[in-house]
Amino acid sequence: MSKQILIVAGDGIGPEVMGQVERIIDWYNTNRGLDAVVENDLVGGCCYEAHGVAVTDATIQKALDADAVMLGAVGGPQWDGVDFAVRPEAGLLRLRKDLELFANLRPAMCFPALADASSLKRELVEGLDIMIVRELTGGVYFGEPRGIEDLPNGERRGINTQVYDTYEIRRVAKVGFDMARKRGGRLMSVEKCNVMESGLLWKEEVIKLHGEGNGDVKLEHMLADNCAMQLVKNPKQFDVIVTDNLFGDILSDIAAMLTGSLGMLPSASLGAPDANGKVRAMYEPVHGSAPDIAGQGLANPIATILSFAMLLRYSFDLGADADLLEKAVETVLADGLRTGDIMQDGMKQVGTVEMGDAVLTALKTLSA
Ligand code: NAD
Repeated sequence: MSKQILIVAGDGIGPEVMGQVERIIDWYNTNRGLDAVVENDLVGGCCYEAHGVAVTDATIQKALDADAVMLGAVGGPQWDGVDFAVRPEAGLLRLRKDLELFANLRPAMCFPALADASSLKRELVEGLDIMIVRELTGGVYFGEPRGIEDLPNGERRGINTQVYDTYEIRRVAKVGFDMARKRGGRLMSVEKCNVMESGLLWKEEVIKLHGEGNGDVKLEHMLADNCAMQLVKNPKQFDVIVTDNLFGDILSDIAAMLTGSLGMLPSASLGAPDANGKVRAMYEPVHGSAPDIAGQGLANPIATILSFAMLLRYSFDLGADADLLEKAVETVLADGLRTGDIMQDGMKQVGTVEMGDAVLTALKTLSA
């Protein structure tokens, strides 16, 4: 049966970068037997303009039915005054919530050709390849009670609650173990069990799960503050890191910046398997809609292309096809092609479509 991909390209540079991915999907259909059917739909500001909401119920249903969802980016200054409930970002949040995407995967990969663009020394980041698995739907961003209250003494108090139930820890830790198994076989679980009970429970549950059929993965533990330091000091020591929502938010941004530009960073969010074993998943670049360069053909499509490589690997289990696409990107960069955001002296500056052309050419050459 054909594989169904729902594409919601969104706003700003979203449709420009996603256009290159659609060409790559066509190439895989024709040359690698992918057999994927693409349906396009609206999410974000474009959906608000058409329907008065950031995502429609019908689109949510299509996302639930699809084998995988690809999202470009949503938002832009023209919707800044719009009510929060129907703002572009609300569409993205609803997709994440309704698809129950509890595990956010953010790889930090440093292509050798871009090692000099990192804020760290070349030898620390060249060949870097780590994966951060962040819990996405629980913890302090969602815990109750929350709010700001007035105190009798005239002061005010801001409250958020860090709370994790065992099932939330176990399901994201399971993704961490599975991910480590597909990669270098090592998992670093990160919390602050020295000062937080929720961190202690996290550690205990991860250790328990390790003993329940995950002994083939080497499990280690690290405190979140130390992890932040180690990511900057010696990032190549890590393979897969699994951590909660708050620490994951911060640590994944640190890891991301080790590799240079926003235009290079892919991500995936995975949910639980449904009754038929299908894991819901959404793939998207980390960057936003870049209104400052939208419509000019300047955007770097590589983050979105690498998100599609993740889709091939994690939703369709097509590891060799994913490797091929990543290799094609690496080749194009090694050949000296750069979009403006990653431009360096002596390199050739190209636009969005030319970068897509170059990746397609590299795919053809590498698979010949
Ligand atoms: P942004 O990521 O859109 O842009 C930040 C800077 O990076 C800009 O200078 C932009 O030109 C550059 N940039 C980003 N992606 C690039 C690419 N692929 N190629 C070349 N340069 C790139 O972040 P922002 O400016 O803070 O936000 C703009 C809009 O995007 C806002 O409305 C924001 O809410 C939204 N946003 C959406 C998402 C999402 O859809 N997941 C994420 C972040 C921000």
